[in-house]
Amino acid sequence: MKNWMRMMAAGVLTAAMVMGLTACGGGSKSGVDAIKDRGVVKVGVKADVPKFSLQNTATGEYEGFEDDLAYALAGKILGISADEAKAQKKVEFQAVNAKTRGPLVENGEVDFVIATFTITPERKETYNFSPAYYTDAVGLLVNNDSGIDDIEDLDGKIIGVSQSSTSKDEFLKYKEANGIAAEPTFQEFATYPELAQALAANQIDAFSVDRAILEGYKNDTNKFLDVRYGEQEYGVCSNKENTELAELINTTVQEMLDNGEMDALMEQNGLTVE
Ligand code: GLU
Repeated sequence: MKNWMRMMAAGVLTAAMVMGLTACGGGSKSGVDAIKDRGVVKVGVKADVPKFSLQNTATGEYEGFEDDLAYALAGKILGISADEAKAQKKVEFQAVNAKTRGPLVENGEVDFVIATFTITPERKETYNFSPAYYTDAVGLLVNNDSGIDDIEDLDGKIIGVSQSSTSKDEFLKYKEANGIAAEPTFQEFATYPELAQALAANQIDAFSVDRAILEGYKNDTNKFLDVRYGEQEYGVCSNKENTELAELINTTVQEMLDNGEMDALMEQNGLTVE
């Protein structure tokens, strides 16, 4: 190989290595330092899950357990308290849903997501998940006047579920494991308000998702079926390649679980501590 060719090849290789390191968050400026320099922490949260994360329509503020957890983590990253992080508006919230939250973490538009995101073995291959901060189970909400009182009554009926959620798979697993004969069909929706509306309009016969999420849509005209399955744990989700940030999140969540802070945040937001 001619000398100039060798030099060019080496140059391309060096550039590729530098780019690779930067992409992995392993360059001189780490992922956490980059957030500190920016001065605000970008967090994806739900806007429509009461007690967990609900956007106040009057003020535009996000309120709930997961938002408080975001302030705690932002404080840790920036070296201030959770209260200071909140008062100084150090968290830039972005509304996410089950479909958008993963891609937003992957493309770096948010630093992490705290959005009723269930930890699964498949998802763990793509993302970092913190230790579990909440455990929930799937439920089914039906209209009072639907004549549906039991899971077997769902035969031939339509169950509405959220796109990219665990809800359909968990139903099928439960059905298989418990010899349930009912054969419902499934219809996917992008958001929970759309699902609630479809149920109210009888376009679907049941609305299924985690019980915590369903609680927000329980009203006088609908009821929970007496069934609880698919226990699942929620974790803070961050980019797997940003190992420094992932470690900081994981350690902080574990500390909060151990020292009772997590329970206190739950209670503060009206969630039952088991
Ligand atoms: N928690 C479930 C999941 O992660 C339901 C979907 C959702 O969180 O919106 O799949």
